[in-house]
Amino acid sequence: MLHPNRRHFLKRCFSSSCGYSATLLLAPVLAKRAYGREALGETLGSRPFGRIEKISDDVYALVSTPFTKDGKSGDLATHSNGGLIVGKKSILAIDSYRTPAGATFMADSCLKITGRLPTHIVNTHFHFDHLGGTRGFIQKGANPEVIMTQTTRKLAFDTYLKTLPDQTNPNISISALNNWGGYLTDASQIITDESKPLKLDLGGRTVTITPMSGHTNSDLIVTDDSTGTIFAGDLIWDGIFPNFMSSSPSQWTQSVKEILNSSSKIIVPGHGNIQQIKSDSTQAHLNLLAEIETHARASFVKGDSVDAAAKSFDLPTSLKHYKYFRTGFHELAMDAWQRELDK
Ligand SMILES: [Zn+2]
Repeated sequence: MLHPNRRHFLKRCFSSSCGYSATLLLAPVLAKRAYGREALGETLGSRPFGRIEKISDDVYALVSTPFTKDGKSGDLATHSNGGLIVGKKSILAIDSYRTPAGATFMADSCLKITGRLPTHIVNTHFHFDHLGGTRGFIQKGANPEVIMTQTTRKLAFDTYLKTLPDQTNPNISISALNNWGGYLTDASQIITDESKPLKLDLGGRTVTITPMSGHTNSDLIVTDDSTGTIFAGDLIWDGIFPNFMSSSPSQWTQSVKEILNSSSKIIVPGHGNIQQIKSDSTQAHLNLLAEIETHARASFVKGDSVDAAAKSFDLPTSLKHYKYFRTGFHELAMDAWQRELDK
């Protein structure tokens, strides 16, 4: 199931846009709740871009804090959440953030907490803010296995090897990945069978890596079997309007229902705060997906354009505190639904 693949590093990689802007633009702020600042677990260390939270003796999360207190664009070294699951033999890092500096903070924290560096990294999906920093884990003699699905690897290479003229100088080609501070690191172990979960033995504990889809064509969730902690990647978002750019929306809803119906207890979303699996936040995420679907279907029946559908979509009153990574996310959601309904 896991096939070795020769690792090589690409000094430069080239990309078209992956769905996020380098600049975080604030949506209308209708609530004062500071995003990403409500720790569930004990905080072991922090930087302007994120903090390490202890979930149990051997399970940790990096919770990114990409917005400042007043909702402005903050430090995006990590941008997404990730985690560590520590076994007697091996340590699994979940996701590798936007930049090597972000991953280095997690690697250094791991060394401080456990005296060891991660031996394995799993990328939950291909988006740049979840894999751009991998080389930050490859330091101080560490040479971790990099695990991703075959589909994720293809999507990453197809997306990030493209060259685009630099907006400020059309004579220069640059990739969005490099422009956003990240680099493409190839997988060393590729999951070729995406039809069923696989177990990884870390020594004294196992994790289950479960292929899903919906946020992208290939998403992984990682479950720590002993604590019932799920690292959900971008299938689950807390307090932020999700990115539909690479999505299959009805499949996304199915995957979220499956996750929330599991017997796990704690969930680390791809963006936002750690939550109990049955919580207002996880329910709000599911409700938002449903609201978006209802609006998209009604707009489709009326024959509205994507722009018209996006313009007439309003967040439910209970979700007015939601933040946006940038403008245009309503358009991405309506576009994804129209593409699906067109089929
Ligand atoms: Zn994503």
